Amino acid sequence: MTTSDLYAKHVLPTYGRFPLVPVRGSGCRLWDETGKSYLDFCMGIAVCSLGHCHPRLVEAIRHQAGELMHVSNLYQHPLQAELAEEINEHHVRLAGKVFFSNSGAEANDGLIKAARRFGLKRPQPDGSQRYEVLTFLQSFHGRTLGSMAATGQAKIQEGFDPLLPGFRHLPFNDIAALEAAIRPETAAILLEPIQGEGGVNCATPEFIRAVAGICEKHDLLLFFDEVQAGFGRCGDAMAWRMIAPEIEPDGISWAKGMGGGVPIGAFWLSDRAIDHDGAAVSSLLGPGSHGSTYGGNPLVCAASLAVLQEIREKELPMNAILQEVRIRETVRSWKLPVITEVRGQGLLLGIALDPARIPAPEGKTPALVVVNKLMERGLIVPPAGPNTFRLLPPLNVTDDEVDEAMAIIHSVLEGLGIGG
Ligand SMILES: *Cc1c(COP(=O)(O)O)cnc(C)c1O
Repeated sequence: MTTSDLYAKHVLPTYGRFPLVPVRGSGCRLWDETGKSYLDFCMGIAVCSLGHCHPRLVEAIRHQAGELMHVSNLYQHPLQAELAEEINEHHVRLAGKVFFSNSGAEANDGLIKAARRFGLKRPQPDGSQRYEVLTFLQSFHGRTLGSMAATGQAKIQEGFDPLLPGFRHLPFNDIAALEAAIRPETAAILLEPIQGEGGVNCATPEFIRAVAGICEKHDLLLFFDEVQAGFGRCGDAMAWRMIAPEIEPDGISWAKGMGGGVPIGAFWLSDRAIDHDGAAVSSLLGPGSHGSTYGGNPLVCAASLAVLQEIREKELPMNAILQEVRIRETVRSWKLPVITEVRGQGLLLGIALDPARIPAPEGKTPALVVVNKLMERGLIVPPAGPNTFRLLPPLNVTDDEVDEAMAIIHSVLEGLGIGG
């Protein structure tokens, strides 16, 4: 039986999977089971921030696997403590505390729970609990019942009613709509500084500043979902700092790139005091209020620590900026009308296509047509919405690798633009 046959018989068909079976990777390269090699600008959707099988990451995992893989969170482990310190001191650079989860969805669930505790501590004028979290259209926050309800895309929620209550989805970058939406039960605002899955849409500096101002005025918690954009991908340790660096959020969620390939997520709550008794946001979730069996075990913490130290020591966020410039200049030089726009920051980039210039068969989006053609030509990239594909190379991608990918993109797009 082929791998595809085994999938068909044994694996739930929740993904529309490409007929690609990668079995080995190194740096930017990926090989499928037939031995064909690809340039990988998907990187597990922004997960493998150091590329495939980076020696420092492989060694950290190998070493820790032989020392101690797992202990319960009933106990303490030096690597979990060191990873939290690395995150706080060098990446967030604000006083706060970290909880380790196994995924981005779980991290967002943690923020949602913190918002509800906050709404209990600082209730509505009539004494009833605040609980509502405002999020935005086109956002993606995950697939658990909580994070799915937070997500602003009907297609993700279809058929799963009744959804967890307590969310409203507002137009992104629309300050007036947000101001008008605040109600007594509102407790927090959650947003991706750069929406990834929703098509690579950047929050404007005006919007992020307005969101922060509204949070302050109405006593709401400000949460950033940095699951895809965080830890160097957008040109700074944290994506919001590329947009409005002075803003100090109350909570942040991460996953994807922080582990370089091991399943780890986290959320962070600020030490900012929220009450006259000195209680901080980070004290909202006390002993017994939240947990995870695997969360932050020694194996994944060793891996994540290696990844975050490599990102910091090699100044990879700077490389993300330099490669962004290279990519944008290359696209500009082509003058291809089929490309309408390059959106994003650093190495979270979306190449937006003009659907009128891409012949797409029934049921296939223009983005998927292009993604499939790129794959045939040896470049792997993920789509983002119907008319955009993403470039998510590792943060240490080289000039030559970028040039090679851009040459493939150019030849494919030049070949299919109608009247292009
Ligand atoms: C991928 C993603 C999530 C969900 O993360 P999982 O690890 O798949 O649960 C949440 N938010 C954003 C912005 C994401 O890109």
